[in-house]
Amino acid sequence: MGLAVYPWQEELARELVSFKDNLPNGLLVYGPRGIGTIDLVIAYAKSLFCEHPHKDGTPCGECKGCKMANAYTHPDLRYVVSEAESIPRGIPFEPPSNATKDRKIYREILIHQPRELTDFLNLAPHIDKGRRIIVVYPADAIRADAAATFLKSLEEPPERTTFLLVADDIDRVLPTIRSRCRLLRAKAPTHEESLNWLKSVGIDDAEEALARAAERPCLVTDERSIRDNTDIDAKVRDQLLTLTTMAPAVRMALLKTLAQGASIELTNIAVKEGRTALPVSAVLPVLERWSYDLLAVKQGLEPHYFPAYSPQMKRLVGSVDAEKLFKYSDSLKAMRRVVTHPLNAQLIIEQAILRYRKTMANQDFD
Ligand SMILES: [Zn+2]
Repeated sequence: MGLAVYPWQEELARELVSFKDNLPNGLLVYGPRGIGTIDLVIAYAKSLFCEHPHKDGTPCGECKGCKMANAYTHPDLRYVVSEAESIPRGIPFEPPSNATKDRKIYREILIHQPRELTDFLNLAPHIDKGRRIIVVYPADAIRADAAATFLKSLEEPPERTTFLLVADDIDRVLPTIRSRCRLLRAKAPTHEESLNWLKSVGIDDAEEALARAAERPCLVTDERSIRDNTDIDAKVRDQLLTLTTMAPAVRMALLKTLAQGASIELTNIAVKEGRTALPVSAVLPVLERWSYDLLAVKQGLEPHYFPAYSPQMKRLVGSVDAEKLFKYSDSLKAMRRVVTHPLNAQLIIEQAILRYRKTMANQDFD
């Protein structure tokens, strides 16, 4: 399989390895979220520091370079990765000095991250004749102020330095960043490839899990590994699960179902804790936001969270009393407080959907 982390990456892995002795200053690999592109790029970055790599580009795993790269202590390898993507992969992340304790996990690259690079880039690489490598992810979620700092480094790259950028959505990468990089596209796996791989790593109901993850196999396994990782604080884990499993495509499916209003069927939500890519811990917050938006629309405002659904929401709330929407919204908040146990989580979602259906039909629940 060479350097590929997943079976569908062999071609991309070979392409990356072919750059090895002639690395550009910026290499941007893009492809849909949840197909493991970042994992391959991290493996590639580490392999570049191996002192005795195999012919196919795979690292030996034994040398000093490999050991330091694997322990995230290599002085010439840096990660500029969002907090949300760092935690599940064990990549060290330093929050900004003004970060509060009860804040949400950062999903974007923040200003202090590229700033911290400045010192690093001012020094020569530690390894004689070596290169500095900076892995950046998600390159399509860099805050504007941080992007400015980045551009400077990309525009006037210090010598022997390569930025390896990964983006889920190439259209959201700043054109100024994109134009300074060589582009490589990561191909999504076929349905068969995903399915076979999920089965090979022991996912039950691979077919069902894959469908719910919108054909993004790594979302299924990412979810599993976050769920199993007891080193992560429970609250943080909940947030991470929402992020990994509520990939845009998955979330869209849920929103489309909610847009059915009074004719919604519980089976279309089909959440099962622990087995699927749509955990209950992720559904409730979406329901809460959705109902918040419905209330806003009822009051003549535009939806705050899901503006794209404005027309559907206007249709939905037309025949529903504001008071019923309020009551529903309040009941969701109450549910959230008791949803901590996985055993009652499924029941709570069922109840939430049932109540939603009644509310949308302008009926009282309970
Ligand atoms: Zn090695």
